[in-house]
Amino acid sequence: MAISVLVLSERIAGEHPEATFELLGKGSKLAKQLGGELAVAVAGTDYPVQELGGADVILELAGLEAGAYAAPIWEAGVAAAIAASSPRVVLMSTGTVGLDLGGSLATRFGGQLASYVIDLDVDGEEILATAQLYGGKMLAEVALDSFICFATVIPGSFPADDGRSTGSPRVERIEVGEKPKAVAMAIREPETGGVDITAAPMLVSVGRGIGSSDNLELVQELADALKVPLSASRPVIDSGWLPKPHQVGKSGKKVKPSIYLSFGISGAPEHLEGMRNAEMIIACNTDPGAPIFEVAHFGTTVDLFDLVPELTERFGG
Ligand SMILES: Cc1cc2nc3c(=O)[nH]c(=O)nc-3n(C[C@H](O)[C@H](O)[C@H](O)COP(=O)(O)OP(=O)(O)OC[C@H]3O[C@@H](n4cnc5c(N)ncnc54)[C@H](O)[C@@H]3O)c2cc1C
Repeated sequence: MAISVLVLSERIAGEHPEATFELLGKGSKLAKQLGGELAVAVAGTDYPVQELGGADVILELAGLEAGAYAAPIWEAGVAAAIAASSPRVVLMSTGTVGLDLGGSLATRFGGQLASYVIDLDVDGEEILATAQLYGGKMLAEVALDSFICFATVIPGSFPADDGRSTGSPRVERIEVGEKPKAVAMAIREPETGGVDITAAPMLVSVGRGIGSSDNLELVQELADALKVPLSASRPVIDSGWLPKPHQVGKSGKKVKPSIYLSFGISGAPEHLEGMRNAEMIIACNTDPGAPIFEVAHFGTTVDLFDLVPELTERFGG
């Protein structure tokens, strides 16, 4: 059976990123619709193979080191995988690697590219992509009909669990020919500041509605009572009230906690991009027309300065 969908695993170091499993889950459905197989391209040979059971085929990009990412070298590697497998659709995430390579690979193979994609489907001969414009303020429905199509998908658009499977894909080695001269100097991990808001099962999140840094103590006490981290919208970070690792959103972290408690956050598209996939969103905002209520499962227009101390007392602060 021919390969119809190729997912690029953007593992630069350590484990496969969540986004890879999200793409494998969606890629598997697309491959079935297209009547072909799902392949995943992986840099190097030292990776947890068994975790990629969601794919039918693993294309090992020999000669590429996961820990030494340099865009021109990876582009040569992924191009070799595409040339060897001739997929109809190539999926990458809208992350460092996907943003680096999506445009240049689409140009190299003469295919159409949809960026900032949040959904994909097959309609006859066309691949339908729903893509964000203007930071999510508008959505575009795009029909891709080139013989090879590329999509960079926003992380969090599909459930990662759909792509986690313990199958036993066959492994094919792709020899990457002559590589451009580029040297990866070092990989710098972003500072966590001692807090990883992406791993927390629950977050207390605060926005500009808190008014000033002096009032932060109020929400910090609630977070402490619940034993969860404090996260925030961008204005809180830009004002220097909390450090950058606490920021949720487009230019911050994407979070998916079981419960996201938001206080004084309006729900701008750039913020929603980082938290709309939380399992339960509870919003407190005095403006009943605030867009956060469009994604919230529960909401209240009670003043946060009245509600937060009550909750802290209730949860044992
Ligand atoms: C390229 C780009 C990237 C961006 N990236 C991000 C990002 O990563 N994360 C992010 O968050 N934003 C980001 N932004 C900014 C984003 O557009 C919004 O400006 C920001 O999210 C607004 O933050 P906020 O909701 O805290 O503030 P506001 O929009 O000012 O909302 C404050 C809310 O508090 C409510 N409120 C006021 N007083 C109270 C009270 N006493 N009790 C209860 N509610 C009250 C108000 O009704 C209001 O809705 C980005 C923007 C751009 C252009």
